[in-house]
Amino acid sequence: MNDIKHHLTDALLIAYSAGSLPEGFNLVVATHISMCDECRARMHEFDAVGGAVMEAEPPMGLSDGSFAATLAKIANTPKVETAAPTAKSDLPAPLQDYVGGDLADVKWCKVGGGVRQAILKTDKSASVRLLHIPAGAQMPDHGHRGMELTLVLQGAFKDETDRFGAGDIEVASEDDHHQPVAEEGQDCICLAAADAPLRFNGWIPRIAQPFLRI
Ligand code: ZN
Ligand code: ZN
Repeated sequence: MNDIKHHLTDALLIAYSAGSLPEGFNLVVATHISMCDECRARMHEFDAVGGAVMEAEPPMGLSDGSFAATLAKIANTPKVETAAPTAKSDLPAPLQDYVGGDLADVKWCKVGGGVRQAILKTDKSASVRLLHIPAGAQMPDHGHRGMELTLVLQGAFKDETDRFGAGDIEVASEDDHHQPVAEEGQDCICLAAADAPLRFNGWIPRIAQPFLRI
């Protein structure tokens, strides 16, 4: 996929390479990497740095010219290309195990406004779900209590920051607030992971209203 505009951050790629991400984020990162040559190449560079640092002896070995040796080692590391997915599925390879097949096997639940979701089973450090947003439909306006990664698998959405098409990933953090709207023409299917519940702006006033009688 060559028209990807929104990529993983270096921080996410390094954390993925070091194996320190929650499982839900790992899945989103791995799925983007499977769709994106650019991030796959950068991840291999970080893997090489990680490998070279681990091999460096003694442990303080990034001084005394060994940094140059490390760089030389990286330069000599052959590029390992991840095998292209071979299965005939309409889902990227990393997702197939979680879904148990392809898009037709996803067990969707309605969440209102025509939006459907399927929560995927991962450890509890981050939740990850597939979202099916009808063309033109809006997601609720929300903020974030932690980090949210949203990867577009099909269609496109727009929010206050930009347009995200197939393969694009949006990295939202605590300071970000947005209202994704699926583009007209095609339903939007996303893979979204968050390490804390979202902050829905409309809900609290609505829930509180009958009690407050205002
Ligand atoms: Zn990328
Ligand atoms: Zn969000």
